[in-house]
Amino acid sequence: MFQTSIAGSLPKPAWLAETNKLWPQWQAQGAELQQAKADATLLWIKEQEDAGLDIIGDGEQARQHFVHGFVEHVEGIDFEHKVTMGIRNNRYDAQVPQVVAPLRLKGRVHAFEAQLARAHTKKKLKFTLPGPMTIVDTVADRFYGDKVKMAMAFAELLNQEALALQADGVDIIQFDEPAFNVYMKDAAEWGVKALEVAARGLTCTTAVHICYGYGIKANVDWKNTLGDEWRQYEEIFPALAASSIDQVSLECFHSHVPPHLMKLLAGKDVMVGVIDVASDAIETPEEIADTIGTALQFVAKDKLFPCTNCGLAPMSREVAVKKLQALAKGAALARERYK
Ligand code: ZN
Repeated sequence: MFQTSIAGSLPKPAWLAETNKLWPQWQAQGAELQQAKADATLLWIKEQEDAGLDIIGDGEQARQHFVHGFVEHVEGIDFEHKVTMGIRNNRYDAQVPQVVAPLRLKGRVHAFEAQLARAHTKKKLKFTLPGPMTIVDTVADRFYGDKVKMAMAFAELLNQEALALQADGVDIIQFDEPAFNVYMKDAAEWGVKALEVAARGLTCTTAVHICYGYGIKANVDWKNTLGDEWRQYEEIFPALAASSIDQVSLECFHSHVPPHLMKLLAGKDVMVGVIDVASDAIETPEEIADTIGTALQFVAKDKLFPCTNCGLAPMSREVAVKKLQALAKGAALARERYK
């Protein structure tokens, strides 16, 4: 009951990449960089296990950014000539690569870190990929001229990599779709369908993570404009409930999401965000157990998985480790309280 995991990313150590940044520069190159990525992946597996988490991830140590880490391995994309584009409905500007030709995978994308992680933990392994709709929102299209067409093309490539990750021994494949919370109508109309294409044929557990973004200033400012009740999930959860995806990861603690919206996910596993990624304050076990208690009004015990609200990438390493420990302690208290 209450198996714990993180949404996905963890801070990169200072010897691997710049710290406290969403698009950090690597500190090394070539074989030295590859070794540093491997070392950081092992370090975070150990930290997650020591903290007592039940489901382990690679902490996304081998990719610069959760979207571009995948896109870098796709043919048909010009990474040399990045352009500035407003992303997430112009919430903030990003330097994005351009799609200039038909998309094709150059080869495996995440074999290195997935196989490394699999070899070094006996616990359940979760691996994250960006969702098709969020990728489409983080690249500039100079070729397809149609968002849905381009999303479906990316979904096919994601499916190819997801099937290979499953063969590597990954237990849970999670697609990250923060864009669902920005383009709710599109998400319900075609975003969920694209997600199902990405997950087609998978027999491992499938998940989608939908959040209000990392704890960076642009996101915090945006959240302040969303009012007292954040009802974005209301428009997309019915489509997800009707989909083939097994688990949904959502934001809860310190958000203005009405908790009863979780009822819309009847039948699904719900990864409930009990850790705030926009604050360095460490949650107490009591706070976490309280959040789990609130969620239990709307989610069955055996369907509730305590998780972080989003990735911990831009935070300090020290805070992230403490938040992992808090997550495990809070879930342990909830197991006692709600048995
Ligand atoms: Zn997130």
